[in-house]
Amino acid sequence: MHRFFVSKNQIKDNTIIFEKAIEHQIHNVLRLTAGNKVIVFDNSSFEYLIELRMANDNSIYGRIIKKIKIDIESSIEITLFQSILKSKERFEYVLQKCTELGVIRFVPLITSRTIPRITSNWISTKRLRWEKIIREAAEQSGRVLLPELSEIQHFNEVSKLKHHPSIILWEEEEIHAIKNYLYVLANDSTNYISKINVIVGPEGGFEKNEIQYAKNLGVESVSLGNRILRSDTAGIVAVSCLMYEFGQFSP
Ligand code: SAH
Repeated sequence: MHRFFVSKNQIKDNTIIFEKAIEHQIHNVLRLTAGNKVIVFDNSSFEYLIELRMANDNSIYGRIIKKIKIDIESSIEITLFQSILKSKERFEYVLQKCTELGVIRFVPLITSRTIPRITSNWISTKRLRWEKIIREAAEQSGRVLLPELSEIQHFNEVSKLKHHPSIILWEEEEIHAIKNYLYVLANDSTNYISKINVIVGPEGGFEKNEIQYAKNLGVESVSLGNRILRSDTAGIVAVSCLMYEFGQFSP
């Protein structure tokens, strides 16, 4: 059954008023009409079974038939600080796959070796597309929360991270394997971890002083093994390791 994200203010008195773009998709693309059923979610932990209705002006709206509490979201809230990549397709692929995996927040990151020249115009055009990719991936994967797309941040802003455990992926890390670090985190009976930050470098990797800066803040540098992964691979692998270690890959 088709699923759509709606904002809370579109739900009034058991009725869903769709945004024009969504109404167009429902009526003209999917050819759905009055009587058909769809599911909507509004960033709460509920889904709504909706019956489509036709208004007098031939616009489509929805009537709530059932409100269902859904327990599908990850118990570990992952914020992925993904370096902006030269390849827009690869960056978008990370957004899509990590939304499916359950990431709750994306922070596009600018580091010393970020290749694209980031201008405010570049950002505004990219944000709309990135938000669409995240929304469609959340709809497709059955999520009831829409991951947040944060403002673009510069690497030196990672100093704000100190409140939650954070890992920085470093291919030159020679001591800490991600497996050991996550095992300790997930099995610490004295300290329940519900949030974690993951920081991934750009195609050219991090500068040594960036790694040191992060370590000085208490960010753990971890290795994903001896092979050099592409940045997009590394982010997806690290999120997958986290979901596995925190038991999120279970029915
Ligand atoms: N410096 C490498 C490329 C970096 S890969 C080179 O020049 O080929 C891009 C990012 O992916 C890195 O900054 C790191 O965050 C992550 N990464 C890739 N392979 C990794 C590994 N084996 N362990 C940890 N992180 C890795």
